Amino acid sequence: MTAFWAEPDFDAHEQVTLVHDRASGLTAIIAVHSTHLGPAAGGTRFWHYAQAADAMRDALRLSRGMSYKSAMAGLPAGGGKAVILADAARSKSDAMLTAFARAVDSLGGRYITAQDVGITEADMVAIGRHTPHAAGLPGQGGDPGPYTARGVYLGVKAAAARALGTDDLAGVRIAIQGVGSVGGGLARYLAAEGAVLTLADLDTDRAARLAGELGASVTAADSVLAAEADIVCPCALGAVLTEVSIPAIKARVVAGGANNQLATGSEGALLRERGILYAPDYVINAGGIINVLRHIDGAGDAEINARIDCIPSRLEAVWKESEASGLSSDVVADRMAQQLIGRG
Ligand code: NAD
Repeated sequence: MTAFWAEPDFDAHEQVTLVHDRASGLTAIIAVHSTHLGPAAGGTRFWHYAQAADAMRDALRLSRGMSYKSAMAGLPAGGGKAVILADAARSKSDAMLTAFARAVDSLGGRYITAQDVGITEADMVAIGRHTPHAAGLPGQGGDPGPYTARGVYLGVKAAAARALGTDDLAGVRIAIQGVGSVGGGLARYLAAEGAVLTLADLDTDRAARLAGELGASVTAADSVLAAEADIVCPCALGAVLTEVSIPAIKARVVAGGANNQLATGSEGALLRERGILYAPDYVINAGGIINVLRHIDGAGDAEINARIDCIPSRLEAVWKESEASGLSSDVVADRMAQQLIGRG
């Protein structure tokens, strides 16, 4: 493995800790990108990586993304991320989670962990037994999906106001890729406003069930981004906006909850060239991280919701600057976030 500081994704991370516990078999990386605005918050991913270097890249890239997301959400939090390197069988044990929790604890609150891919609520409970620096435990706001969905919904309305000239979504054609926790919640908000919905999910039964409930239509998962729609909402996986998928988009807006939607990070310019308004993913999908405030400063529902209500004005600021500067909205958002974390 190359030294992590020689990785292209190394971005002056404040601290990168490699954790190895022989007894339990734990190998993990905890990356603290920035604590400029507060403790570095970000989930723990449990994943089998083909190469250790891939795990390092994920930790470096995702922790920087968390810094940007928290900064643009106006949170008193920085960015961090942990990855646990699972073996091919993805064996996980209580001893491993305990060793991981102790490593998190040894950082003394500089890093606050939460749930991410491969980590269950039960795993979080196990981690939370050995460190107070674990957020999103049962009774502390739990599933962030509904908060993320509400923020994305408000962001979609702001995008409609800007690109379509109205935030009244009645009759507006909206296609959603992925109708899980975020996309499903979004679909319910949009249906309640009378939007004309097209839903797609790899789990076709899931899409059909929700479509039946909401009076929506269903389309294939691989063509939904090119649907005849005014707005498309990627709410499944990342890297869906590519040199191939963007030219086929018919909508005037791309605004959805999925993380890392731009395949290589440089497709924002292509969206802009095509006149498509893009809501930078980490700005519009910040509802879930805002919910972590419950842990950081004991915020309740009213404060969490008030902060989620600010997502449209953050997006508006990005779009205005994008228009004034000629830069794509993702580049503008990155620059704003860097300023906020003292790296302008
Ligand atoms: P989820 O697992 O509840 O739902 C994802 C859905 O997408 C599933 O129904 C899955 O079958 C479907 N899907 C997967 N690949 C697909 C494809 N190629 N085409 C169509 N459908 C596909 O996950 P979620 O919590 O709703 O998260 C969705 C996205 O939002 C992810 O990118 C996640 O990283 C991001 N996100 C989630 C939160 C949150 O609070 N849950 C916060 C920020 C970002």
